[in-house]
Amino acid sequence: MTIDAIVVGGGINGLTAAATLARAGVAVRVYEQAATVGGGCRSAELTDDGLLHDVCASVVPLTVASPFFSELGLENLGVELVWPEVQFAHPVDAVRAAIVRRSVEDTAASLGKDAGAYRAMVEQFLPRIDYLVDFVTGPLLRWPGDVATAVRFGSRAVLSADLLARRFSTEEAKAIIGGCAAHSTARPRAAATGGFAIFLALLAHSAGWPFVVGGTQRITDGLADYIRANGGEIVTGHAVSRLEELPAARAVLLDVMPAALLRMAGDHLPAAYRWQLGRWKHAPGVCKVDFSLSEPVPWLNKELALAGTLHLGGTAADIARAEDACNNGLHPDRPFVLAAQATLFDQTRAPGGGHTLWTYCHVPNGSTVDMSERIIAEVERYAPAFRDVIRRTHVRTSADYQQYNPNFVGGDITGGAPTLLQTAVRPALTFPPYRTPLKGVYLCSAATPPGAGVHGMSGHRAALSALHHEFGKRPTSKQSAGNSSAT
Ligand SMILES: Cc1cc2nc3c(=O)[nH]c(=O)nc-3n(C[C@H](O)[C@H](O)[C@H](O)COP(=O)(O)OP(=O)(O)OC[C@H]3O[C@@H](n4cnc5c(N)ncnc54)[C@H](O)[C@@H]3O)c2cc1C
Repeated sequence: MTIDAIVVGGGINGLTAAATLARAGVAVRVYEQAATVGGGCRSAELTDDGLLHDVCASVVPLTVASPFFSELGLENLGVELVWPEVQFAHPVDAVRAAIVRRSVEDTAASLGKDAGAYRAMVEQFLPRIDYLVDFVTGPLLRWPGDVATAVRFGSRAVLSADLLARRFSTEEAKAIIGGCAAHSTARPRAAATGGFAIFLALLAHSAGWPFVVGGTQRITDGLADYIRANGGEIVTGHAVSRLEELPAARAVLLDVMPAALLRMAGDHLPAAYRWQLGRWKHAPGVCKVDFSLSEPVPWLNKELALAGTLHLGGTAADIARAEDACNNGLHPDRPFVLAAQATLFDQTRAPGGGHTLWTYCHVPNGSTVDMSERIIAEVERYAPAFRDVIRRTHVRTSADYQQYNPNFVGGDITGGAPTLLQTAVRPALTFPPYRTPLKGVYLCSAATPPGAGVHGMSGHRAALSALHHEFGKRPTSKQSAGNSSAT
């Protein structure tokens, strides 16, 4: 086969890049170092035989919102989604919890005197959610199109979560902000953490926070089938160390982190670009604990059993302390824990019965500490009989994650620390950001805009850029999901 383009790395972004190229008629080959494609989008029997766990990503609001997947149609990849009744919940003590449903009205009604402030925060943006998704899933340094909406959203998004939470008086409403912002791994006092919070809350009321029936790996498996059906080739078990090893091709797209690009091609890159890549900072890591359970978690507050995702760790102030600790290189006694209970909504993952609980907490980058006892203690605050239903646990520390996937540097799952600078300039000041100074070489990983998550937009936009600059193909509306002005 004559190869026109090569993709290194078969994560969600490498695969969306390859799918975009293959659909445009480009002969593409993907090299993946692991035995299977998927990267952070894989599912496996981590505990009991037959019980399926999501190894990394599990909750997929960004897949639903993604312009790439909307245009391609998830159903065309054989992907089916299931939405919980409650998109996410955040207990602030053993009985009280913020309960976020698809309906803004129902969510606001549960927030007492913060109902009006919550509605004001989300309702002004929901009518323009498609525009906002398109804008924030691309490079932020570009002409925004709808200037009025961009300025209105930007003026709130640039706030810290801490400042944004001060608009509310109930612990529940503050927790919605603190919990959503904490996904970013940044300190809640950091600029732009408010933007993460508003955007994730908006997704709860638009795309929702669903699971993939049968595990998130169905998305990457579906993409792999799509690439092959469009003439592409996938080679697994093949790690690429240097660009010189690759067969000749007009374009090379790299689903790798900046430090890996330096190792692969550093001596060929201009000094100014090398310097920028060398300054790329990574975020705290995660320690993930997967549980197999004999029964669902016995929550004291029964509404928590309706939620797909839970934010645990106490009030917004408690979570701020935990996130500060991780950013200071400390392991918090009471960590911020993200939990998901997929089998309550997708029984195909547990054909033999039983349940899973997917959890992870933030820890310092590179940590080797097993946080399972601290995670169990946090769940027990809201479900004192939790330990009685645990059958088995599977633990992966931050150091293990880097071993599992070299893109998770020190266990950082966000593709780089989400500072204001690194959010705006990912990973270096080039236009478009996917293009490197090397002719035909592109970066397409989560270290490029828009960053982490199962949306595939880094790969898709990098591929559009390559189609334009290397193949002289202006993407048609069929090939170009979303605003392609930044390619
Ligand atoms: C524990 C955890 C929980 C998460 N939860 C969620 C969630 O619920 N929702 C969500 O949206 N996101 C979540 N994420 C984040 C999401 O998984 C990532 O943002 C996403 O997978 C990034 O995709 P990517 O293609 O950029 O990189 P990756 O998925 O990391 O894929 C990169 C691929 O490239 C391969 N590779 C790297 N270097 C080489 C090389 N030199 N040669 C060949 N192959 C190479 C790797 O093996 C890997 O398969 C989570 C991540 C983790 C780890």
